[in-house]
Amino acid sequence: MYWTTYMLRYLEEHADEGAEAIAEALGCSVHAVEVQASRYGVSLRKRWRCPRCGMVTFRPLSTVTGWCSNCTKEARRDRIAEEVRALEEEVRRQEREDRERQRLYSRKHRAKKKLRKREK
Ligand SMILES: [Zn+2]
Repeated sequence: MYWTTYMLRYLEEHADEGAEAIAEALGCSVHAVEVQASRYGVSLRKRWRCPRCGMVTFRPLSTVTGWCSNCTKEARRDRIAEEVRALEEEVRRQEREDRERQRLYSRKHRAKKKLRKREK
């Protein structure tokens, strides 16, 4: 198979997308792409750029977040921290509510006691 200048340039410019993607784009076999790449010393190792932090990574981006693994971990940690804050706030509200109720019960008890004294 004859490689045109266009194809060779495409190979160089899209090397980070991997052999399969280039083969599909140029309509040739993966093997042909690999042979040309090795002939011209082009690395076909697939790379991804994380849209969140801008780092280039050799590991696929998360299918869930579309980010690199570090960004995905950070986002998960942020979510957990948010959950912890919400739970802590709930506990504080419950404690406040319990104290308030306790205070009211005490007042009620004292008021009843005063009433009983007057009735005697
Ligand atoms: Zn990232």
